[in-house]
Amino acid sequence: MRVECEKPSFLGGQNMQKQVNLLPNEIPTKWYNIQPDLANNLEPLPPPKGEQAKNLPNLMIGTCLEQEFSDQNWIDIPKELLEIYMKAGRPRPLFRASNLEKKLNTPAKLFYKSEFFSPTGSHKVNTALAQAYYAKKQGIKRLTTETGAGQWGTALAYACALTELECTVYWVRAVHDWKHDRRAFMQMLGAEVYASPSNKTEAGKKLYNKNNKHPGSLSIAISEGLEDSQNHSDAAYTLGSVLNHVLMHQTIIGLETQKQFEKIDMYPDIMISCLGGGSNFGGFVLPFVGDILTKDKQIRFIAAQSQSAPNLQGKYKYDYADHAEITPQLKMYTLGHQTDFKPIIGDGLRYHGCSPILSLLRKHGYIDTIAYPIDEKYVFERAMTFMQTEGWIPAPESAYSVACAMDEAMKCKRTGEKKVIAFNVSGHGFLDIHGYKEVQGLK
Ligand SMILES: *Cc1c(COP(=O)(O)O)cnc(C)c1O
Repeated sequence: MRVECEKPSFLGGQNMQKQVNLLPNEIPTKWYNIQPDLANNLEPLPPPKGEQAKNLPNLMIGTCLEQEFSDQNWIDIPKELLEIYMKAGRPRPLFRASNLEKKLNTPAKLFYKSEFFSPTGSHKVNTALAQAYYAKKQGIKRLTTETGAGQWGTALAYACALTELECTVYWVRAVHDWKHDRRAFMQMLGAEVYASPSNKTEAGKKLYNKNNKHPGSLSIAISEGLEDSQNHSDAAYTLGSVLNHVLMHQTIIGLETQKQFEKIDMYPDIMISCLGGGSNFGGFVLPFVGDILTKDKQIRFIAAQSQSAPNLQGKYKYDYADHAEITPQLKMYTLGHQTDFKPIIGDGLRYHGCSPILSLLRKHGYIDTIAYPIDEKYVFERAMTFMQTEGWIPAPESAYSVACAMDEAMKCKRTGEKKVIAFNVSGHGFLDIHGYKEVQGLK
């Protein structure tokens, strides 16, 4: 007997665009490395500089170091890693924001990529899984890292759990002490979590012994994570943004999005995402930037930032990636590695520098930027309109992407243009509802 699988008749034509899906066997099998296209069409990426650059081979996972300076355009995603990506819910849908379009009464067509389906709540798992996979292959037993807001620590804890590695997270005490749920989340995944400064490392002890309630900082936590991995030969240190290999791992987002637009025979006019160090923005747009550099295409790319740390409006120069000057210097747009930034709820956007790849593209005029006010009222109000129409709660950082996409949609309303606007929603906000409450004055 033959069973006919009928397609429901309402799923024809325009309605197909409400959710554009890829089948598991349509998942991209290679990452896109933009470095050779930059070298051939713009200029080569400026290499890291300084004494510390010599230490890179000891600090990084071997394969990640190769990828960091690779001149290959396409790099195979190992089969076992593809299987893990599928466990993490890839490929992820591209949604048409049809309710939001109606609410805004805009002729623009809005599409958003759903990185909020991540098991830990952010796109960061895309590189955490890759790094953990390669570390395991290399015989490393444990990964160490620092975390500020907590998303990176959670993503790494998750990746270590799935690849059977141990995980140690040094978490800035000022945040560690009040984000109880996220701390429990990391521990439930099997990670060891220390408030930093801790008494586990020399760098931490110096400060901890003077004041065991020291609030800590990202640079202190970095020093602790680095020292821990340097003192244990079976451990390696990992980073979750800024670096070339991290952005390359994240291109899975944009490569899926490209295939999804092909399926509905459309192409974006504008692409938007939030930008802290640049990993979700880069992952989303770089495959399309490749089109622009090598084919005859045009897209406007907009990075949504906070006025607290609008790093793309800084200076293009060599600067350290951390406060304590432990890392090599990178050529990037920077506000200065020892600048203090006003606190915001979208803490992942509070970083002094933008990734070298995106900085080079910015220098050549490929990336526009907008910075939203520090009180975050404007941004969160728009995020709530998105929630109330589309039903998903964006991470505080992703709220900037949503707000910027809505601003562009309103411009189309004024001009009558039917632009196709694609934006990335880098994470969900289930663990950040307190932030929405605070900014919106909810009781
Ligand atoms: C960390 C984070 C960001 C900012 O980091 P990028 O490297 O610029 O992407 C944005 N969104 C979410 C959900 C994050 O966790």
